[in-house]
Amino acid sequence: MAAKCFFDEIIECLDAQKDKRKTAFVQPETIRELFAEKTDAPKPAQEKPSRLPVSEQRQTSDVPVIKPPTASPAGKVAVENLSLNELRAVALNCHLCKLHSKRNTVVFGEGNPHAELMFIGEGPGMDEDMQGRPFVGAAGQLLDKMIAAMQYKREDVYIANIVKCRPPNNRNPEQDEAEQCLPYLKRQIELVSPKVIVLLGAVPLQRLLGKTGIMKLRGQWDEYNGIKVMPTFHPAFLLRSPEAKKDVWRDLQAVMQFLGKVYKK
Ligand code: SF4
Repeated sequence: MAAKCFFDEIIECLDAQKDKRKTAFVQPETIRELFAEKTDAPKPAQEKPSRLPVSEQRQTSDVPVIKPPTASPAGKVAVENLSLNELRAVALNCHLCKLHSKRNTVVFGEGNPHAELMFIGEGPGMDEDMQGRPFVGAAGQLLDKMIAAMQYKREDVYIANIVKCRPPNNRNPEQDEAEQCLPYLKRQIELVSPKVIVLLGAVPLQRLLGKTGIMKLRGQWDEYNGIKVMPTFHPAFLLRSPEAKKDVWRDLQAVMQFLGKVYKK
């Protein structure tokens, strides 16, 4: 018997009893009979469990349903005209480069969608891959301190990476991976439209500006599509080389000055 009939039977039974007593009573044999019939009935098809990691399921639950990304003839995702939420929804289902196969989550980026200050790193590490958020590990804690020293809260700025999926063993993203992923970041920059972008390390310097030599170019203003860009060292490098913190602080103070922030000791 189908589930609908099972409930119909119960309702009929209660109807039949309602005139006899104030409280309707269903005979145990009736229940047994109904359950026996229900057990014999063909079972509805079981829904297959999702194979998405838990954190990715959480991410996808609160974003609009968007068609899977389509690759252009050049092999790049088409993101023009997408809003930040739509872009995020597409990225969370992206399989365009080989990094998708080992990721736990897609780390899209986060922060104020109208931030005047944006930070760009190279890619998610282990902690970021687990949590689906950029810069949450040890380097992220140092970045938080850098942001606070600049008199911003983390939620005031926007934080993203060159690639949105973790490269295995934290290696640098390869050229094809960066090229496949860059349209997402470029659209994020276009939508957030910050006044200043801080590039964290050699990888974003190379992939976004096409330049090499972070040791030489750090601290020198550059430009991306009319937006001021300040290359500096990655916080992970500062954890290994704390003596370089003073250089980074000098770079960040230049950014503060440009943004009208007064340095307070
Ligand atoms: S790294 Fe970027 S292009 Fe590659 S699968 Fe992840 S989101 Fe897609």
